[in-house]
Amino acid sequence: MSLRERYHRLQERIQAAALRAGRSPDAVTLVAVSKTHPADVVLEAYAAGIRHFGENRAYELEDKQAAVMALAGPLPDLHWHFIGSLQTRQSLPVARLATCFHAVDRVKIAGRLSHQLNDLGRQLTVFLEVNISGESNKAGFPAQQWQQDAAQRVALRLAAATIADLPRIEVQGLMTMAPWDTPEPVIRAVFRRTRELADWLQTAVPQVQWSSLSMGMTDDFEIAIEEGATHVRIGRALFGARS
Ligand SMILES: *Cc1c(COP(=O)(O)O)cnc(C)c1O
Repeated sequence: MSLRERYHRLQERIQAAALRAGRSPDAVTLVAVSKTHPADVVLEAYAAGIRHFGENRAYELEDKQAAVMALAGPLPDLHWHFIGSLQTRQSLPVARLATCFHAVDRVKIAGRLSHQLNDLGRQLTVFLEVNISGESNKAGFPAQQWQQDAAQRVALRLAAATIADLPRIEVQGLMTMAPWDTPEPVIRAVFRRTRELADWLQTAVPQVQWSSLSMGMTDDFEIAIEEGATHVRIGRALFGARS
């Protein structure tokens, strides 16, 4: 199957999941996760109509953006999303090149980006990553107990309010990753509790709308859309397996 065909199949599945949930398919943005794939694959996807690309390594983002630019010149409607966890000393390429950063997992990285964005005269949309499943190998603000644990809510509210007040950073909502190889009801519950946390944050940190949810990958994006995802980050279903 060609990339164009995989994209069309994927669009059909995204639309069907949105309609099942009574949502508009237009409310779901596909972020095509192009990590490990070269610039010419990005341009093939761009030619097929894809405009949002996800990368998870700062140096790879930098190299690929330069390679795309060298091949095709500036493409103002091609948007780079940084979806991985970001080390503080590697933040500059994200500040320079990304439209959106999905994985803010500590106040410090947001503060550093805010300074760099200010120097660059740029804005960055961000999602706060939350660890809803509680797995120790997952990044994100601890949130597995947010409904029961008042201290966890206080910490989340403080971090969210601090980041929301940073210049040049526009908080859009929450990002989460579901556990792998888990029964569907468990995955669904992780996505649902993320949406409920965003609803709570609307009253706790009202200077942000909390209207967007970045959740869902190749194996679970339909469940995520049914539970309210506005951004799905999909690699393998579009580009095939990564070597
Ligand atoms: C790689 C990656 C994805 C895409 O995963 P697929 O299973 O290829 O769809 C999504 N989100 C993050 C944070 C990733 O690192």
